[in-house]
Amino acid sequence: MIRLQTYAAFSLLATTSAVYYAFSSREQFYPAMVYLSSSKICFVLLLNTGLVAMCTTWQLVKRIFLGTLREAEVEQLNEQSWREVVEILFAVTIFRQDFSVAFLAMVAALLLVKALHWLAQKRVDYIETTPSVPMLSHIRIVSFMVFLLAVDCIFLSRSLMPLIKNREASVAIFFSFEYMILATSTVSIFVKYVFYVSDMLMEGQWEKKAVYTFYLELISDLVHLFLYMLFFVAIFLNYGVPLHLIRELYETFRSFRIRVSDYVRYRKITSNMNERFPDATADELNASDATCIICREEMTTAKKLLCGHLFHVHCLRSWLERQHTCPTCRAPIVPPDNGRTASAQQHGAQPGVQLAAGIGAPGSEGATSENMNRRQAKLEAAASAASIYGRSFAYPPTNTLNSL
Ligand SMILES: [Zn+2]
Ligand SMILES: [Zn+2]
Repeated sequence: MIRLQTYAAFSLLATTSAVYYAFSSREQFYPAMVYLSSSKICFVLLLNTGLVAMCTTWQLVKRIFLGTLREAEVEQLNEQSWREVVEILFAVTIFRQDFSVAFLAMVAALLLVKALHWLAQKRVDYIETTPSVPMLSHIRIVSFMVFLLAVDCIFLSRSLMPLIKNREASVAIFFSFEYMILATSTVSIFVKYVFYVSDMLMEGQWEKKAVYTFYLELISDLVHLFLYMLFFVAIFLNYGVPLHLIRELYETFRSFRIRVSDYVRYRKITSNMNERFPDATADELNASDATCIICREEMTTAKKLLCGHLFHVHCLRSWLERQHTCPTCRAPIVPPDNGRTASAQQHGAQPGVQLAAGIGAPGSEGATSENMNRRQAKLEAAASAASIYGRSFAYPPTNTLNSL
C-alpha cells in the first residue's frame, strides 16, 4: 500500500510535469495536445498514470468493503493472480491483431475486477465458518456483492454492445464472456450467502440447506460449463484453439462430476436415516455419558451407528454432509458392500489426523458444555471438520474458485 502510494505520487508528479512542459513550451492548447499524444515518453507516462489510477481505485474498493485482508486471503490472491496473468497472456495471443492500448486497459481492469471476486468468495467462505460475525461485516459483504454485480453488468453491457452492433467477432467476445462468468459467480456467491443467513436465522436447524446448496452449485457449474463451451466454440470458429480455456473447462467439468457423485452418496445414506440407524435404547443412553460429540449437548433421543456410538439425528445428518465415517471412532457409517464403496467412504480421510483436535474428546466437556453456545460449538465443529477434510460437500473444493 505504501509502495503504491509512493509510486502513484511519482507517476502523478512525472505526468503533471510532462503536461506542464507541453503547455509551457507550446503555449497553445492544440499544439500542446499534439505534442502530448505524439511524444513517446508522454504516452508512456499517461499510460502509467492510468494504471496507477486503476490500482488506487482497486485498493480503495478493497479498503471500503473488505478492510484489511487476512493472511490466507493475501496468499490466495497472489497465487491466483499469477495463474490468471499467464492465462490472460494466452488469451492476448489469440487476439493479437486487436492489440491496442484500450485492449491493454480492459485486460488490466478485468484482472482487477476478477481479483475482487476471488476476495468476495473467500470472505463469504470465511464468514460462513466463523462463529460470531459482527453486523458490520454482513453489511459490508452484502454491499460488496451488490457493487460487484453492478460492475459486472456495466462491463458486460459495454462489451456486448459492439458485438450486437457490428455483428462480427472481435476481442469484445472475450470480455463479454469473462464478465458473464463473473456475473453468474457473483449471483451464486450471493445466493450461497443468503442460504447461510437463513440457516443462521433458523439456528442451524435448516435441514434442507445442504440440498439447496448442492442445487445452487450444480446450476452454477452447469451454467459455467455451458458458457465455457460456447466461448470455446466461438473462439475456435473465429480465431483458433483457445489454449487458455482448456484448464478451466476441464476443472469445471471435474468439479461438476465430483459434486454429483458426492450428492448421490449423501442422498443414499440420508434418504432412510430412520430405518438405517436404530434408535438408542434408554439403557444405551445411560451407559454412555449421553453427550452428543457433534454438538456437545445432552441427548434424550439418539441414533446408534453400527460401531455403537450415539448422536442426535440432526447432528448426524449435518455430519454426513461432510464425512461418511463415525465422528468418534472413524468406522465407516455404511458397511462397505464392495471394494468401490469402501474406498469412497474412506475418501478424504487422512490417517493420523486426530478428530479430537476439532471436536474435542467426549470426556472433556463436562463443566464447559453449559457455557458453550450451542450454535457456536456446531459452527466450530463444522469449520474444523472442513479444514481437516480439505474436500467436502458443503464446503466446495478450492479448485472451484478457478471457475470465477
Ligand atoms: Zn448433537
Ligand atoms: Zn463410532
